[in-house]
Amino acid sequence: MIQDIAPHKLDNQYYMGVAPEDDDVLLVFDGKKVLCNTENGLHLPMVSEFAGIPQDDAKRDALLTYLFAIDEKHFFMADKDALALPDGFTFQDVWRFRRDVASSQEDMFAIATGLHLSHWYQHNKYCGCCGSRTEHAKAERALFCKECGNMIYPRLVPAVIIAVTNGDSILVTKYGDRDLPFYALVAGFVEIGETLEECVQREVMEEVGLHVKNIRYYKSQPWGIVDDLLAGFWCEVDGDPTIHLDYQELKEGIWAKRGEVPLQPDNYSLTGEMMRMFNEGRA
Ligand SMILES: [Zn+2]
Repeated sequence: MIQDIAPHKLDNQYYMGVAPEDDDVLLVFDGKKVLCNTENGLHLPMVSEFAGIPQDDAKRDALLTYLFAIDEKHFFMADKDALALPDGFTFQDVWRFRRDVASSQEDMFAIATGLHLSHWYQHNKYCGCCGSRTEHAKAERALFCKECGNMIYPRLVPAVIIAVTNGDSILVTKYGDRDLPFYALVAGFVEIGETLEECVQREVMEEVGLHVKNIRYYKSQPWGIVDDLLAGFWCEVDGDPTIHLDYQELKEGIWAKRGEVPLQPDNYSLTGEMMRMFNEGRA
């Protein structure tokens, strides 16, 4: 999965006052697009490729935000309008990398994690209580409003991935609103006041009109591209297996036989891992 980058290691603790080195990475996002060069596979811009980064610590810290490290390499973020963009780099859709661009798993994980953090920073520039400008807390990853004392911590959105099985078949779907050519599993965001297991039952009923039983937790995955933390569950159809598709959410839903499951093209997603496990008889 995207987070399985061993022997590399993510250190996602926030450190104050890390000075960028020339070969550190500077992530710049424009919505869900990331600044990169894809002429020869995926290349993320290094600090040295940007002209005009101030030498003065205070001025530089105002432009660059420390995000995390993978091994010895630090990753920083800058607003897209804060610096002149280096030649040869353009903003490209993160989804595209899954099918069109050769990229290392640690770069993909860095982009997904950076994207999640950048959303959080962007959406919390101003205090939601009093509207004042926030600033970074000194000792931890948090934004602080000195006008009213509001502390804002990074926010994750919990969601479930659901493998519904029926004997030797698994339910696979295609989303209606996304340009993804491959099949996925039923999935959805957890509502306030709901358990993960209740979310599993509700989402399956809403999207494909099925009752499920024997709900078992499998594994989790950070999926920063949509700010969520995914929890994967196995369950079995309970009663009539006739699919009634919610065409608002999905354009296709089918029972795929073991050995014939239409698999995803990479190993990034928890969804893909669960589909592959079932297909190979390991679940
Ligand atoms: Zn405030």
